[in-house]
Amino acid sequence: SNCVHIIGGGLAGSEAAWQIAQAGIAVMLHEMRPVQNTAAHHTDGLAELVCSNSFRSDDAQNNAVGLLHEEMRRLNSLIMRCGDAAKVPAGSALAVDRDQFSQMVTKTLAEHPLITIERDCIDGLPPKDWANVIIATGPLTSDGLSHAILDLTGEDSLAFFDAIAPIVHKDSINMDVAWYQSRYDKGEGADYINCPLDEAQYESFITALLEGEKTSFKEWEENTPYFEGCMPIEVMAERGRETLRFGPMKPVGLTDPRTGKQPHAVIQLRQDNQLGTLYNIVGFQTKLKYGAQSEIFRTIPGLEKAVFARLGGLHRNTFINSPRLLDESLRLKADPRLRFAGQITGVEGYIESAAVGLMAGRFAAADALGQSLTPPPDVTAFGAVLSHITGGARPDSFQPMNVNFGLFPHLRGRSKRKSANQP
Ligand code: FAD
Repeated sequence: SNCVHIIGGGLAGSEAAWQIAQAGIAVMLHEMRPVQNTAAHHTDGLAELVCSNSFRSDDAQNNAVGLLHEEMRRLNSLIMRCGDAAKVPAGSALAVDRDQFSQMVTKTLAEHPLITIERDCIDGLPPKDWANVIIATGPLTSDGLSHAILDLTGEDSLAFFDAIAPIVHKDSINMDVAWYQSRYDKGEGADYINCPLDEAQYESFITALLEGEKTSFKEWEENTPYFEGCMPIEVMAERGRETLRFGPMKPVGLTDPRTGKQPHAVIQLRQDNQLGTLYNIVGFQTKLKYGAQSEIFRTIPGLEKAVFARLGGLHRNTFINSPRLLDESLRLKADPRLRFAGQITGVEGYIESAAVGLMAGRFAAADALGQSLTPPPDVTAFGAVLSHITGGARPDSFQPMNVNFGLFPHLRGRSKRKSANQP
């Protein structure tokens, strides 16, 4: 039959399913949760956001991910439509209520007449009679399928670590100490909660991080590098006692109303749900043990009595060597009925994953209709992401990356930024 099978109902698989169904083609979406869970997902909802609730900058003029947002909206993206509908305040970023967002995606797909959702784990190569398949199983792809892909491609697994930041109940934050403010008063001006540390408090916090008990590595994890954008705070602290003060704890653009001064260091919390009852500690991914986390984070002024809705964690991330393995429409050269989408292709981020899902969905629909689809030009954010993973990056040193203006070609006569915004 002409049906497209999608394996994995995350950010990429959900977007792909929507795009294919909108093109009039039937879709079978296979999602293993709740039959089988991952180490990071907590619900059985489609498009669950596993860590931060932010889609990052929504500024299409000055930021590459903001530009990608806008391009996706113009291509009728389901992820953007639901993200916009579930928006919570976050300055110039687009942050969402994660439950509302996931429920809306799930409901929209479940109600679509051309989409069937199967709760099953496809834990190996898909059956031979599936002629048009999208594999969108994400960084936590089930073991059996990972091994099957490795056998098929003859590659060694590539892997790195991501870590999860803790979430705090807002009413447990001491607002006599903490205050609302966005850095440099951007956006609505009051979207973040800030906790100040003086020099002595900062120094003892760093010492506690360095001495705190960490979860130990499994043998196969020992030599896996960290992805820089998601480095645990204790690893940053190991690089130097000041590193955090120039990273997630930087105080610039923030003024403590009690002193009228910029503190020595600040931790920021960002609204995590629509109700405004939960806040996540921005940039505080960690592999400290749970006991150590609660103890150390409660030494932060304002968080003395913090109640944690979720503590931080650590996980492995797997992705294929796309520049070597995929053709320009995201098909596996070794078995072209298989197309890849999402984080497993070596993009990084919710929106990048969804964007690759959108493209894979449109390519698969075109195949099903016997049409050909020209890839997006590389002066667009879509094109920049696609050409990076299907050819632009060097296979030898391929690492997952967020969309950024460095992936755009340099256009003559204008700055990269401007030309990217005005293609
Ligand atoms: P996912 O959203 O993970 O979807 C894959 C789906 O496939 C899952 O639902 C899974 O259950 C299912 N599945 C897996 N194997 C099978 C199988 N064999 N059969 C059927 N179903 C299967 N990005 C950000 O932008 N911000 C962040 O803060 C952030 N934090 C992250 C934290 C963690 C712990 C992880 C793992 C990733 C994080 N990422 C983050 C990176 C990335 O953007 C997300 O993982 C994103 O969800 C990737 O989208 P995806 O659709 O490729 O995969």
